[in-house]
Amino acid sequence: MTATISSSKNRSLIPLFTTGRYFKEKYGVKVYKIPVSISGFTCPNIHGKVAKGGCIYCENRSFSPNLKSNNFDFLLNPDSKNPFLEQQLKELSSQIEKSKIKLSNKFGAQKFIVYFQSFTNTYAPLQTLIKLYERALLHDDVIGLSIGTRSDSISSEILDFLEEKSQDYEIWLEIGVQSIHDETLKIINRGHDFNSVQKSISKIKKRGLKVCVHLIFGLPKESEEMILKSVKKSVALEIDALKIHPLYITKNSALARWYANGIYEPLDKDSYLNLLAKALLLTPRHIIIQRLMAGEDSENLIAPLWCKDYRSQKSSLAKKLKEIGFIY
Ligand code: SF4
Repeated sequence: MTATISSSKNRSLIPLFTTGRYFKEKYGVKVYKIPVSISGFTCPNIHGKVAKGGCIYCENRSFSPNLKSNNFDFLLNPDSKNPFLEQQLKELSSQIEKSKIKLSNKFGAQKFIVYFQSFTNTYAPLQTLIKLYERALLHDDVIGLSIGTRSDSISSEILDFLEEKSQDYEIWLEIGVQSIHDETLKIINRGHDFNSVQKSISKIKKRGLKVCVHLIFGLPKESEEMILKSVKKSVALEIDALKIHPLYITKNSALARWYANGIYEPLDKDSYLNLLAKALLLTPRHIIIQRLMAGEDSENLIAPLWCKDYRSQKSSLAKKLKEIGFIY
């Protein structure tokens, strides 16, 4: 049975439990995430350990020889020395300091979580990861880390380290789940199944760390029923937060070819918002909603073009949320 949407006319609106509200309640000040991208980092699904080429929607070097390339083969050998570490540490510190100034001036942010965002941020030699995480935590007003990664790339050693840090800091792992359906995970060349996700989230939760699950709506051959089942099964994993976005097509991805050949059509805005409304009604109130929009406004976006206009997405989302009794 799927969720139904009823009008909010006779109900008072409930504030959606967003990341901003969670941090404000917990720390009493404005806490913002600082996204960082570590040069040289890659993903086992691109780099060969799991597969090459990556997920069909991933923008990576396999599809564009012109994208910046370096020799980062050391990532495949956990014992090897990292010749780029000093450079990576410098870049990390510079990204953190620049963002702190920007977020403080623009939004009045007072504390920060460093979000290791691009590629797989637990896929590097242990000592490299530890040095980078420790450097991030050394910055003034940084109160934690959020680490974007895959279920098949989280070692016990890194969990040992993060568990210890979680005694003093807010430590999150962001896991790309995308769909709970193995047939879809095969189609998108995800390189792991849902069982891998379940096992990994259970291990992370046993360490007392926080988990944010990422889901994508509009994956090839997925029906509404399948999408909502992904939501139901994900929130049943005792996760702490959810990020949802529509599948969008960028240049330099396999999906761009599918789209050009008429094999894939993305969701239109109304279909996405209707699905989102149903998904939110299935999500328990204690789960933090970290993201609901596409946020892809770069020149690399091919489709759907409604994902380019952040302002219009935001106002359509606010309207839809109101219909189901929430304010953003
Ligand atoms: S897991 Fe992420 S980085 Fe790796 S191939 Fe898929 S989208 Fe790209």
